[in-house]
Amino acid sequence: MLVVMRKRATREDLDRVIDRIRAHGWEAKPVPGGERTGIGVLRNEGAIDPALFLDLPGVRDVIPVTKPYKLVSREIHPDDTTIAFGGGEVVIGGGKLVLMAGPCAVESEKQAMTIARAVKQAGAVFFRAGAFKPRTSPYSFQGLGLKGLEILAKVREETGLFIITEATDHEVCDMVEEYADIIQIGTRNMQNYRLLRRAGQAGKPVLVKRGMWATVDEFLMAAEYVISEGNDRVILCERGIRTFTRHSRNTLDLNAIPFIRKESHLPIVVDPSHAAGRRDQVIPLARASAAIGVDGLLVEVHNEPEKAVSDGPQSLYPDQFQEMVAGLKQMNIEL
Ligand code: PEP
Ligand code: MN
Repeated sequence: MLVVMRKRATREDLDRVIDRIRAHGWEAKPVPGGERTGIGVLRNEGAIDPALFLDLPGVRDVIPVTKPYKLVSREIHPDDTTIAFGGGEVVIGGGKLVLMAGPCAVESEKQAMTIARAVKQAGAVFFRAGAFKPRTSPYSFQGLGLKGLEILAKVREETGLFIITEATDHEVCDMVEEYADIIQIGTRNMQNYRLLRRAGQAGKPVLVKRGMWATVDEFLMAAEYVISEGNDRVILCERGIRTFTRHSRNTLDLNAIPFIRKESHLPIVVDPSHAAGRRDQVIPLARASAAIGVDGLLVEVHNEPEKAVSDGPQSLYPDQFQEMVAGLKQMNIEL
């Protein structure tokens, strides 16, 4: 349920509503907006009688929230969420398409720095690379760990690129929170609720990738977990879901984008690389995503993909990334 306040409602009016919500053992979540201030009522079991609030001064309306996800929903938060970095020099959700690019994994300082310089020159503002890798096989490369995070910190220092990197579990999240500008939650962890809660307590924005088997409702509920812990700087990432196709690693669910836009105020980015699984499909999917209107692209780029320790076949060469960016500019996409 959402209690909508009048424009001229005072701080005291707001506090009175919050006190009444808390007196019932529920949680009050103020949602300031351009047009109105709302106060979400959370953790109630069963319906709430609107009359409970309608008699309070400053209350304009009481509206039921019909969706299972509350804080991610436009019903509670009608305005788009924007997330600023570097004092506003980069904004995710502000109308421009933000480019995040880099290898699947940090392999060495030289590799990371070489790729970072190339993607920066092409127009990327975030460097992506995993220091902790969730691999299907326990025998595959698992990432450089803390050393990888230290390399990422150097990349930021030398190139000015912001860093996005994955937290694979609860303990790793402590380290990643310290080094990253955005904490990435991977597809395999989208329903790791303990990790989502931990990310919700972090002081950094969180990018939640859609589970490869997850419905959009489950995806939005994962974001709800993060926000419910107090961190409302959440970015959604569509990265492809499993279908019966053999012509690609996954199927990029572009239908989800306009649906999510309608349902949620959160920014949404697309990862065409993991959707495709093969280099030749990445640029077309990036262009399609940009055309449908996304807030960013998360793209794997490697200077020597044939030697990459992970996801080489789907990694663009730096000049292909440049070509991708040129194509977006031709489409009049604001970067
Ligand atoms: C990645 O970004 O390299 C990654 C592991 O992504 P996903 O969780 O989508 O598979
Ligand atoms: Mn990868």
